Amino acid sequence: MLSMQSIGKAYRTDMVETHALRDFSLEVEPGEFVAVTGPSGSGKTTFLSIAGLLESFDGGRYVLDGDDVSALNDTERSRLRNEKIGFIFQGFNLISDLNLFDNVDVPLRYRGLGKQDRRARIEYALERVGLASRQKHMPSQLSGGQQQRVAIARALAGKPAFLLADEPTGNLDSLMARQVMDMLSEINEQGMTIVMVTHDPDLARRASRNIQIVDGQVTDFRLYEPANRHE
Ligand code: ADP
Ligand code: ADP
Repeated sequence: MLSMQSIGKAYRTDMVETHALRDFSLEVEPGEFVAVTGPSGSGKTTFLSIAGLLESFDGGRYVLDGDDVSALNDTERSRLRNEKIGFIFQGFNLISDLNLFDNVDVPLRYRGLGKQDRRARIEYALERVGLASRQKHMPSQLSGGQQQRVAIARALAGKPAFLLADEPTGNLDSLMARQVMDMLSEINEQGMTIVMVTHDPDLARRASRNIQIVDGQVTDFRLYEPANRHE
């Protein structure tokens, strides 16, 4: 479980202080698919960065799968991030001169996993996103939707407890956006916990729960019955 209680986060630049999150509380249970919406500048990315242990916070309590995040040092926090969190970004963030196999391998190598384990994970993950036959292709040979599926494979290969996605369909046309959403729904139905930031209410509706962030706080909370999740 992911549990945030009264988290605060301020950015200070020169004379200006911006409170990106204030008294922010949220719990995400295993197996949920949470979509986070809200106006630009409301704190969505800040929330996701803190949830993903990329960003520190000022006050409050954040417990990730039993670990109290504020009690960890930098090394422990990186290890927890590598073990528990998979990220998907709007811009895919693939390395253009590595083929698909090697792209998925990057974070696994970084973690120092053995060759056999890495190979099994990469093949499993590319299979899962329907790109097993394209291992040797380069990112530029794929459509945007396929590139995002490689990014999903890269996240899954880490066997994370949580998949965090920031506008994962933001760079895609509507057909490819749908395909990527279908894939995320399928992965969630197979048990993966997903938290996704999106602008698009139609995509948000396909999650199991929607939260809205306004001015750094959760303002709305809506639970969708599984029967209503697919149009
Ligand atoms: P959203 O993702 O909802 O657009 P963000 O979390 O990116 O919102 O930003 C929330 C607020 O924090 C905004 O006012 C933004 O300008 C500010 N902010 C975000 N990141 C930084 C930063 N690195 N330095 C200074 N201010 C920041
Ligand atoms: P089985 O065929 O016995 O069900 P799995 O499909 O669980 O085996 O695993 C096959 C290989 O895929 C294993 O080597 C394992 O390391 C890897 N694997 C299993 N689950 C995941 C996952 N969620 N993400 C990435 N790799 C996985």
